[in-house]
Amino acid sequence: MSETNFDAIVIGAGMSGGWVAKELCEAGIKTLLLERGPDVKHIQDYPTATKQPWEFEHRGEIPRKVKEENPVIARCYAYREDNAHFFVKDTEAPYVQDKPFDWIRGYQVGGKSLMWARQTQRWSDFDFEGPARDGFAVDWPIRYRDLAPWYSKVERFVGITGNKDGVDTLPDGEFLPAWELNCVEKYFSDFIKNSYKDRHVVFGRCAHLSEPQEIHKKQGRGMCRSRQECERGCPLGGYFSANSSTIPWAAKTGNLTLKPDAVVQSIIYDEEKEKASGVRIIDRQTKEVTEYTSNVIFLNAGAINSVGVLLNSTSNRFADGLGNDSGTLGKYVAFHNYRAKINAIHEGHSNKATIGSIPTTAYIPRFRNVYSQETDFLRGYASGFRAARYKSSSPTVGGLGQQHADSLINSSLSYTGPWRVGSHMMGETIPKESSYIKLSKSETDDWDMPLLKISMDYDDNDEKMITDFFDQMTEMYAKAGFVDIKTNDTKQAPGLDIHEMGGIRMGHDPKTSMLNANNQLHSCKNVYVTDGACMTSTSTQNPSLTYMAIAARAANHAVEQLKKDLI
Ligand SMILES: Cc1cc2nc3c(=O)[nH]c(=O)nc-3n(C[C@H](O)[C@H](O)[C@H](O)COP(=O)(O)OP(=O)(O)OC[C@H]3O[C@@H](n4cnc5c(N)ncnc54)[C@H](O)[C@@H]3O)c2cc1C
Repeated sequence: MSETNFDAIVIGAGMSGGWVAKELCEAGIKTLLLERGPDVKHIQDYPTATKQPWEFEHRGEIPRKVKEENPVIARCYAYREDNAHFFVKDTEAPYVQDKPFDWIRGYQVGGKSLMWARQTQRWSDFDFEGPARDGFAVDWPIRYRDLAPWYSKVERFVGITGNKDGVDTLPDGEFLPAWELNCVEKYFSDFIKNSYKDRHVVFGRCAHLSEPQEIHKKQGRGMCRSRQECERGCPLGGYFSANSSTIPWAAKTGNLTLKPDAVVQSIIYDEEKEKASGVRIIDRQTKEVTEYTSNVIFLNAGAINSVGVLLNSTSNRFADGLGNDSGTLGKYVAFHNYRAKINAIHEGHSNKATIGSIPTTAYIPRFRNVYSQETDFLRGYASGFRAARYKSSSPTVGGLGQQHADSLINSSLSYTGPWRVGSHMMGETIPKESSYIKLSKSETDDWDMPLLKISMDYDDNDEKMITDFFDQMTEMYAKAGFVDIKTNDTKQAPGLDIHEMGGIRMGHDPKTSMLNANNQLHSCKNVYVTDGACMTSTSTQNPSLTYMAIAARAANHAVEQLKKDLI
């Protein structure tokens, strides 16, 4: 290998790119991992990980001026003073909102795997068969059985905490022991089990090491202590991030070259060989342009940016973007509908309280339109469920100095407030041809690349689904005896779910899709896309576990192809 020639190039060092790099490097493939942002080394580059609340200038809050300057990220629940450095500021990387879209990004080694909420539910055949059954998008070219072994492989390595629940819509996996739900969450879970034959409230599976196994110790990761400060980066490696796990693992093989500050401008297409020959990058700081060559290229820049890279990769053969024979590049993008929330009070269990907390919530798998079409909208929703008991403001809190500290300590023993319960909807949305990601014809970024234009929106199906969520959850809450039930449609723009998908979808037919069953571009087989852009439909489950399983599967396919000299 020369300094610019590799067996494989991976674009984007985040959640999915980390998995590709790991699998390729383990198989002996000399791999270049390109990342537009700076390096973030595990532990060493987590500047706030061990800070105490009083060590933050604004006590954890984002100052109003900063919020006003960055209205998009300011709307993200996870954006706080202790992790603000991992979020892309609105002002740093503008994009065009043809329709309102809150685009949350993490441009650094590790990508958004540093800031994610770590919820990891498998998809099922109710998801993979959905488009064909319900007549939207195109049929997925894979089924659950194709991914099942890869889910298992990813789960064992990542470390997923959960229970085997035996729910049809939520396949079981390879789990570490789950934490206990609290008494009210258990009460609701038992109540729903006894009251509905097809509804369940289970422990939300999450990427935390409740009981590290040998494979996790080899990664240098330790037990999750439920510090609840995950998004700062975990010095224990208690939750999964590419930084603590896949990328250092790939590096240990000696086959990885990691290049941060490398903004990929485009993939280069060789018209004679009729395949991609490499990528062109612009140095983030010096703006110097360099070309790297390889036999195979993986695109893992995060769904929207991956679409941008292909749209920017034009040639005589592909005037409208690499692999875009179908004209579907950048279309059929979708997201998860997180607009609906419901809260209530539980008056029971008043002699019980919790100490500490767990890094996940209970989870209500999809129960609507599963076995048959029951409603006047397509598909369904999953939901979270959380119960917590807060201290009511105690008249005994007061004083100054030690006196104040004492009164706080004493008041914390008196949980006089009620239990509050709440759920949020995670609704499947239908990918539409009219939703798009395009390149701006007039505006460019700091690297002279066209800005991305984003347009996706809710439709009538989503509105009906929200109404149904409120009806069904209100009924379930009321039956369980919860009172003061309040629903809230936040009307938030798409994007805050941070589950953007599609734009380079998989499908059987090159005329209506971009990628085949192995995630290769139909018309340029040595380019694979294995992040959210490849998703044909959106399911109700958090998608990152599925991206990782798809990425691992496709990387192993590429290894076989490379060994047989087929790409
Ligand atoms: C607050 C928050 C909570 C979340 N909670 C969950 C959850 O509970 N469960 C779940 O499943 N998902 C969750 N997600 C979403 C999850 O983080 C993403 O689905 C996942 O990280 C996507 O993986 P990816 O590899 O596609 O993208 P990323 O992890 O974002 O990685 C993409 C990488 O590509 C780089 N890149 C982009 N463009 C270029 C370019 N042109 N050249 C070079 N590099 C480039 C980026 O800088 C980035 O490092 C959450 C996200 C956030 C922010």
